Amino acid sequence: MIQTEDMEFAPRVISPEISQEDSDIEVSLRPQTLHEYIGQDKVKENLAVYIEAAKRRGEPLDHVLLYGPPGLGKTTLSGIIAHELGVNFRVTTGPAIEKPGDLVSLLTSLADNDVLFIDEIHRLSRAVEEILYPALEDRVIDIIIGKGPSAQSVRIDLKPFTLIGATTRAGQLSAPLRDRFGVIHRLELYTKDQLTDIVRRSAMILGIPCETDGAMEIAGRARGTPRIANRLLKRVRDFADVMGNGQITQEIASIALSRLEIDALGLDSLDRRMLEMIIKGYSGGPVGLETLASAIGEESVTLEDVCEPFLMQLGFLGRTPRGRVATKLAYEHLGYSLPEQSSGSDEGQMTF
Ligand code: ADP
Repeated sequence: MIQTEDMEFAPRVISPEISQEDSDIEVSLRPQTLHEYIGQDKVKENLAVYIEAAKRRGEPLDHVLLYGPPGLGKTTLSGIIAHELGVNFRVTTGPAIEKPGDLVSLLTSLADNDVLFIDEIHRLSRAVEEILYPALEDRVIDIIIGKGPSAQSVRIDLKPFTLIGATTRAGQLSAPLRDRFGVIHRLELYTKDQLTDIVRRSAMILGIPCETDGAMEIAGRARGTPRIANRLLKRVRDFADVMGNGQITQEIASIALSRLEIDALGLDSLDRRMLEMIIKGYSGGPVGLETLASAIGEESVTLEDVCEPFLMQLGFLGRTPRGRVATKLAYEHLGYSLPEQSSGSDEGQMTF
């Protein structure tokens, strides 16, 4: 049975983007050390080596690019890197650096080996990016003072530093910028076991009594994303307080999450709308992303960054050169029977 009422509620709860409520508690839930940071083992192992080597040599860590969907722990991991290196952690975002001068003052205020973190680094303007190239490569910035024939180029030496860039869309980074990162890592969606550990850890920090089964129920519906797991934990706590004795059990978690319209696999109403539109509106696809986005009245960026990584991980969605297709698993999960002609696979035919 597919629920369609109160659809505006679910996307908000399950959006991996940060909200004000999140930011209030995220600070307390953020792991401080690599040891406390759950999952992403390959990335952690490599970083541990690079950090140790940089510390032994007394040099800054090479510039690092972290990419992957929102809420997976890019900011957290960057803070940990700075903490493990024992240096300051300066945080900003691509859109916040409006003018080249903003970046110049940031770079010149860094102390030896500091970490500068730029979130959404794909959104830096071209003019700002150009300041960054020599800063990353040769630790210098060239600024022009004055105008016209009397203008002079002045070179400023920078202290050694590490830039950590984070992005949800590595493909949008210009090649010259991408090439200046020595370490590039993609963060993966978390497994249910890892998210269970994250929920249990967060529950302990927040003083919420939570049974392992309850944590597993939340983890299983958090679409591979720690930020969503933590947010669901808080919502489920409300239900546990009102419906029970405050203890999060599997039963309470299940009831609460269903009330939030998050189904057994963690799909919310937006995921379902997307799949249903492909299945019902386009006979299973393929359908182009832009067409799909306007058909369901959503931003294509949201579908691409938020819905697709998760739906593809579940094997519900395929991407083909001609557009998106719903798979057999998606038909089955949503309770539709496969059309006679279409296999619901990559070979699906566009019908209009
Ligand atoms: P991103 O920068 O990728 O959007 P964040 O670093 O802000 O994500 O992570 C969101 C929240 O999820 C953090 O506040 C933290 O509490 C939690 N979190 C992320 N990754 C982990 C992890 N590996 N272990 C424990 N908690 C994590």
